[in-house]
Amino acid sequence: MTTALDLYDPSAKPVPGKPSLAGLTRDALKTALIEGAGVEERKAKMRADQLWRWIHHFGVTDFDAMTNVSKDLRAVLDQNFTLNRPEIVERLVSVDGTRKYLIRLAPGVECETVFIPDVGRSGALCVSSQVGCTLNCTFCHTGTQPLVRNLTAQEIAAQVIVARDDLAEWPTSNENRQITNIVFMGMGEPLYNLDHVSDAIDTISDGDGISIGRRRITVSTSGVVPKIVELGERTGAMLAISLHATNDDLRNELVPLNKKYPLKELMDAIRQYPGLGNAKRVTFEYVMLKGVNDSLAEAKALVRLLKGVPAKINLIPFNPWPNSPYECSDWDRIEAFAEVVNRAGYASPIRTPRGRDIFAACGQLRSESKKLRASERKKLQDAASA
Ligand code: SAH
Ligand code: SF4
Repeated sequence: MTTALDLYDPSAKPVPGKPSLAGLTRDALKTALIEGAGVEERKAKMRADQLWRWIHHFGVTDFDAMTNVSKDLRAVLDQNFTLNRPEIVERLVSVDGTRKYLIRLAPGVECETVFIPDVGRSGALCVSSQVGCTLNCTFCHTGTQPLVRNLTAQEIAAQVIVARDDLAEWPTSNENRQITNIVFMGMGEPLYNLDHVSDAIDTISDGDGISIGRRRITVSTSGVVPKIVELGERTGAMLAISLHATNDDLRNELVPLNKKYPLKELMDAIRQYPGLGNAKRVTFEYVMLKGVNDSLAEAKALVRLLKGVPAKINLIPFNPWPNSPYECSDWDRIEAFAEVVNRAGYASPIRTPRGRDIFAACGQLRSESKKLRASERKKLQDAASA
């Protein structure tokens, strides 16, 4: 095989700080090869396919490991790109095996990602879609961190790559996998970043790469009604709704987005989610807040509200965070609430809090990143590249 035509003179185009190819979509990878490594257009798809497998199936971190790519092209790639992952700034392991990573995506932009063992067939990785959040659900720690920015598709996929590195899960195998499920339940509102979330799901689910099937990927939303059906059409992912209340008055208070998209509109959109049925149920998340939403009358109202929707209900004991304004419901109340819901025929597991000791449980994620002015951001970037 000749690669002479793929050669490219890097001196013709100075590259400031080499970008990483890890976590790019197939299309973005192809474009990077054409624009950044001078690969001929007609060969770019084939080259991108080759690289794709090395990067996302084998997880290689060095171009030299790509034995079916010519030496010359490997050298050009190495001059222009890296296979670097974003840095893990902090890694905490809970007594229950949950791992929390604080990941620096760019100078001053940090997100949290959590691996929870023993969920699904084996374990779930909870990824972030934004740093901070524009919404202010009153019970959620992330909601107290103003939005810094949306994550790119590459940054979302990179969270999976970083966790796979840490768990030594390369190459992709169908046996003894630790990360079998992905949940978009980390920081941020995924449906306010749907383009990137959708591209990231393409990358993560690709059978020739990381290969986590779309049915094992769940996207949770606080109820961005106009994007719900689109999510299903574009990604085929499972839907989770952060419900938390059964009437508009209370939901307006807990999930202020409800004022914009009230329950009736939300339920109508959910009913139209593509492919719903017994095998594809919507998960409704309901955080148990003592004396706020945990009466048995509310359990019955919940059952009425979900009538006719293929649903699973996840009761989440409230996870406290510093100065949080709520308490978790008493355990016997949570069980009594679950009993009402179970009797109505819904599976309603009480989600055992995981990783509370390292602040990795639902709603406890938050990083110190702040939105910076362009000049401050540049200063940080300069310092990082120095
Ligand atoms: N923004 C999306 C994705 C985040 S998912 C959404 O809200 O759905 C995080 C889940 O944890 C949501 O269901 C959220 O409502 C829940 N949650 C937030 N704070 C919590 C807390 N302190 N205790 C328990 N669950 C919480
Ligand atoms: Fe944002 Fe979800 Fe937290 Fe609400 S629960 S503040 S939407 S991350």
